[in-house]
Amino acid sequence: MKELELRKTFSFEAAHRLPKLPDDHKCSRLHGHSFKATIVLRGKKHPKYD
Ligand SMILES: [Zn+2]
Repeated sequence: MKELELRKTFSFEAAHRLPKLPDDHKCSRLHGHSFKATIVLRGKKHPKYD
């Protein structure tokens, strides 16, 4: 049976602040990070579609 794989990569930005840190700490202010996530789906092809 044939194996199939689907991959999709997403890029997104997200912001946060950490208000419990001291005011002079760079992470106490609102700031952002860039993320990249890849979703991988792998499985066998259903015989009906061979
Ligand atoms: Zn951060």
